Amino acid sequence: ALMEQDDIGTRAQHVLESVFGYPAFRGQQEDIVRQVALGGDALVLMPTGGGKSLCYQIPALLRDGVGVVVSPLIALMQDQVDALAELGVRAAFLNSSQSFDEMVQTERRLRRGELDLVYVAPERLMTSRCLELLESTKIALFAIDEAHCVSQWGHDFRPEYIRLSVLHERFPDVPRIALTATADQLTRQEIIERLQLQDAAQFVSSFDRPNIRYQIVEKANARKQLLDFIESEHSGDAGIVYCLSRKKVEEVAEFLNSHGINSLPYHAGMDTAKRSANQSRFLREDAIVMVATIAFGMGIDKPDVRFVAHLDLPKSIEGYYQETGRAGRDGAPANAWMAYGLQDVVQQRRMIEESEADDSFKRVQSAKLDAMLGLCETLSCRRVRLLEYFGQSATACGNCDTCLQPPVSFDATVPVQKLLSTIYRVEQRFGAMHVLDVLRGVESDKVKQWEHEKLTVFGIGADRGDAEWRAILRQAIALGLVAVDHDGFNALRLTEAARPVLRGEQKIRLREYQKPVSQRKKAVKP
Ligand code: ADP
Repeated sequence: ALMEQDDIGTRAQHVLESVFGYPAFRGQQEDIVRQVALGGDALVLMPTGGGKSLCYQIPALLRDGVGVVVSPLIALMQDQVDALAELGVRAAFLNSSQSFDEMVQTERRLRRGELDLVYVAPERLMTSRCLELLESTKIALFAIDEAHCVSQWGHDFRPEYIRLSVLHERFPDVPRIALTATADQLTRQEIIERLQLQDAAQFVSSFDRPNIRYQIVEKANARKQLLDFIESEHSGDAGIVYCLSRKKVEEVAEFLNSHGINSLPYHAGMDTAKRSANQSRFLREDAIVMVATIAFGMGIDKPDVRFVAHLDLPKSIEGYYQETGRAGRDGAPANAWMAYGLQDVVQQRRMIEESEADDSFKRVQSAKLDAMLGLCETLSCRRVRLLEYFGQSATACGNCDTCLQPPVSFDATVPVQKLLSTIYRVEQRFGAMHVLDVLRGVESDKVKQWEHEKLTVFGIGADRGDAEWRAILRQAIALGLVAVDHDGFNALRLTEAARPVLRGEQKIRLREYQKPVSQRKKAVKP
């Protein structure tokens, strides 16, 4: 058996070099390949970009028969198959996007044993036609990609995934490898139970990216803050700037260019030729800043991206992790920088409420946003929060903004009560700007129009500036004390959670407002 294992190791290394052109395995890849190539089951938890594909591709090439890859990502199958074909691997796919002829063609190649890998959509795999075909075919392994789709609590739940347990029953001798980038304990447990992987070896990679410094600053003038950040820490570096909208992508790219930073836009609204031209310039040339929507990044493997900046709040920690993870692939120090403010919270909350999705989906989205906000508002180490979210523990990193400059918290019970009272007094019918005007005692036209200067709360918050109040309101929304209506006016409204605070039964601690660095610098200049 030892001989056989050594032999597998040598053959795996040979395939890695001769087929894929890589000199060495990464992380746990080698152990995983060995486990599956020798016929064992495996559960692989590895972050996006960690190199999951090789974990099933190489064993599929080492074993007799075809490797069957179950994936819900139909849109990527053609690209994956093309990329493998370029390496000389015989691959094909079966999904609903192809014509009947193409399907028959692939089925014929399968029956003749002419394929090394076949990608199959789960709903297709479960048809009796497909299962019967596979029963008459020599199968090297089953790879179940995006295995977290079996979890009913996740946002990617696919009912067809639950039925994948039949693979174990109908093909008891074929090794199975389930892979996912979602690492929390609950999802892991669900995958094991539903896919009957109790006997599988588990390979859990660390999600930590120690060379990335996480930094989340209060948004004031976001573009100017971004420019300061790039000029002071990243002149001449390659980086990615993520924005929510196509329009903003165009504007920010133009702004950076006008300030001498070589940048290119990328979003799904551009024509394909322009988009891929920009992408290949980013990959090829040094020191280009790509300003992009989240459409950019899938499959981008540029090792020396020195920073990833977010000008808008990502929807979830998964998204944030995936996007920031494109920085520093080479292991050298890199920055993940984000500017975040009240408007981000209002906007994201509203987008969830306004979406057409059903209530349970909205609840999941809302919980994901809450976790993201928790990361933004945390008083402790960002890395610890991030890894905790993925079910991994860590100690304070000493390399993120909250470690390097611990935020100061203060007892904000009284100011929060003032804020909540004002929202209540204006009958929960006005947006942030008006509420803060009333609170601070600003006699705007709107205040006068509604005679809100006559309210007892008018001016009770005159002791703090607008930016300070925005930071307090932002945190109150993040904490769920205040909700934002989606009636088109973004009216602020109190939630159930606000009651105990107003009654004085619950104390609130918040982050002390910190002036953005560029403003602080200006303040000391004569
Ligand atoms: P995942 O599926 O985990 O997101 P991929 O399998 O797509 O990751 O791999 C991410 C990138 O890393 C790909 O460009 C891949 O070619 C590269 N890669 C994977 N393993 C290795 C390795 N051992 N050496 C060099 N590059 C690798």
